[in-house]
Amino acid sequence: MSTERLFESDPYRRSCDTQIRMVHPEGVELEATVFYPEGGGQPGDTGVLRLADGRELRVADTRKGVEPGSIVHVLEEVPEGLASGEPVDAVIDWERRHRHMRMHTCLHLLCSLVDAGVTGGSIGAEKARLDFDLPESTLDKEALSAELNVLVERDLPVAMRWISDEELDAAPELVRTMSVSPPRGAGRVRLVEVQDADLQPCGGTHVARTGEIGAVVVSKIEKKGRQNRRVIIRFAEVG
Ligand SMILES: [Zn+2]
Repeated sequence: MSTERLFESDPYRRSCDTQIRMVHPEGVELEATVFYPEGGGQPGDTGVLRLADGRELRVADTRKGVEPGSIVHVLEEVPEGLASGEPVDAVIDWERRHRHMRMHTCLHLLCSLVDAGVTGGSIGAEKARLDFDLPESTLDKEALSAELNVLVERDLPVAMRWISDEELDAAPELVRTMSVSPPRGAGRVRLVEVQDADLQPCGGTHVARTGEIGAVVVSKIEKKGRQNRRVIIRFAEVG
């Protein structure tokens, strides 16, 4: 049985009351969680698990477990006597996660502006990058920054919906990423649509409207290998 993934239906949810399902040497699995496990270039969430007696266990990272669908909350320290069935209040570091959501959504916008396959990507709280299969450099830093900010300022809605694996197989043009295959196998795949801009399968967390991303800047375009171009974006905010 897999952990209930509350972040999928509501990425704005910051906490949940749940129970410990299983204790591992490095951390715990919960019955349900708001913690996003590292994947698709987005880091795992950090935060705390509050026990009934008031103790707080620091979650240093969140990862997919070995069992399909399992999520391991990696604890800084696993206390003696921690047992399954114990109730916890699971609370993510919201500020960090929200920055990941903003950056992640911005990468969808970037994807929509560059007509090339994506070969890799990474998301951080300060900056993010996408690598494109683009032997000839046609990208301009200033022009790309301006185009991104137009999409941000249009405050486009971001919507999610589920389709079956069969529907996805029938529409291979939806898959933009060459290195990361969409999260399938569970019989269904989640599509993320930025209205008028981008539509692709994605399992990450996104903001509800592009305006929430705020102003961004393409800080660097690098040549990586013979055919890859790496585009790095940052928040334009100061401080
Ligand atoms: Zn996404």
